[in-house]
Amino acid sequence: MSATISTTNIQDVKDLTKIERIGAHSHIRGLGLDDALEPRQTSQGMVGQTKARKAAGIILEMIKEGKIAGRAILMAGAPGTGKTAIALGMAQSLGADLPFTMLAASEIFSLEMSKTEALTQAFRKSIGVRIKEETELIEGEVVEIQVEKSATGTNTTGKLTLKTTEMETVYDLGQKMIDALGKEKVMAGDVITIDKASGKITKLGRSFARARDFDAMGPETRFVQCPEGELQKRKEAVHTVTLHEIDVINSRTQGFLALFSGDIGEIKSEVRDQINQKVIEWREEGKAEIVPGVLFIDEVHMLDIECFSFLNRALEDDMAPIVIMASNRGITRIRGTKYTSPHGIPIDLLDRLLIISTEPYSEKEIRQILSIRCEEEDVEITEEAKDILTKIGMETSLRYAIHLITTANLVSRKRKATEVDVEDIRRVYSLFLDEKRSVQYLKEFQNQYMF
Ligand code: ATP
Repeated sequence: MSATISTTNIQDVKDLTKIERIGAHSHIRGLGLDDALEPRQTSQGMVGQTKARKAAGIILEMIKEGKIAGRAILMAGAPGTGKTAIALGMAQSLGADLPFTMLAASEIFSLEMSKTEALTQAFRKSIGVRIKEETELIEGEVVEIQVEKSATGTNTTGKLTLKTTEMETVYDLGQKMIDALGKEKVMAGDVITIDKASGKITKLGRSFARARDFDAMGPETRFVQCPEGELQKRKEAVHTVTLHEIDVINSRTQGFLALFSGDIGEIKSEVRDQINQKVIEWREEGKAEIVPGVLFIDEVHMLDIECFSFLNRALEDDMAPIVIMASNRGITRIRGTKYTSPHGIPIDLLDRLLIISTEPYSEKEIRQILSIRCEEEDVEITEEAKDILTKIGMETSLRYAIHLITTANLVSRKRKATEVDVEDIRRVYSLFLDEKRSVQYLKEFQNQYMF
């Protein structure tokens, strides 16, 4: 690893990874809360589920204020009750430079890396490092060093005192200015004055070498002198990268390209230790700020006991993100053990979670969500067809009804209609089985399947 930790070129990669998903949740644009964090019944693509949205809003505020790093939240509720939608709504309200990582718990079981490495990467993807960089010197811009009059600074041989460094006599200052004058650029030794009231800047000439001119300026004038080198302004360019991105570009020979290829593999713990140390150093020097983002772990009951114990420990870390988990399971077995517990989460971890529960939807809410989805997919639909679709949503699942919108639209286009009508819904309902009918079908014909 190079001695200097590199963060270059990450921005290009980030732009690519931030491409918005189009899909099941593309209609969600936020949590739909007003300024007082009260949920509007329907807003930003969100419908109902007001208690959970309000709770999510409060957590969001705490995240923004940096108050709950290392905490974990559990979204618990039946399938299709909007747990993922709410998490995404939170992500959208977080602001572009707070990292949000989404992970389905089953994704961590792969042959390419260990479970704990996958979780560590997910954690580090969710921690932002806001780096303040000083850009190159810029010609013609100004660094301000205030010049003060010393007690003896009122006669011709008087002294000017720079706040940062001892200045020479007024005469010397004048000489420096002579050197600098006549050049295109403002150079070291040049002095300008700034009128405090108007902000008007004047470049001082040789006459300034006389203290009486200096006195004549009065207290409303500020004296600014160029330091060594050309006049410049230290511009602070701030960009946020994740710890994971810093890990990757410092641990591979192909550097940041690994972020494109996905060929990341395991990252050595020494690399991480070094990076942590460097980032903490940057923080202490005021060069960087650590911003805990959000890690969303869906289907959290799919994690096993080793992962849960990793989580317990990782949440204690100084640089932990906010972890939001979601589960649609009730009391179930903790993977890797013979014990059961609520949501399949060990009690000690459960104990430290803030739990937000989602509730089943009313018919009216299902209809509203379906309407929003129709709009999102640019599907014209008759009121009658929407009634039937809502009924289907109530009796089967919201997700199944949402799927039927796309397919019914295709069927209606085939018959050259401009709107989806009842017959299109009927047709796709008979073509695609919902979960209950699928189970029914399996029961009837199970002897024809392979065992
Ligand atoms: P599961 O437990 O099966 O993972 P879930 O609780 O995460 O389900 P979602 O995936 O969020 O459910 O919801 C199913 C679909 O319904 C998604 O397309 C989602 O965007 C939409 N949806 C759910 N709740 C709402 C809501 N309150 N407002 C708008 N759309 C919603």
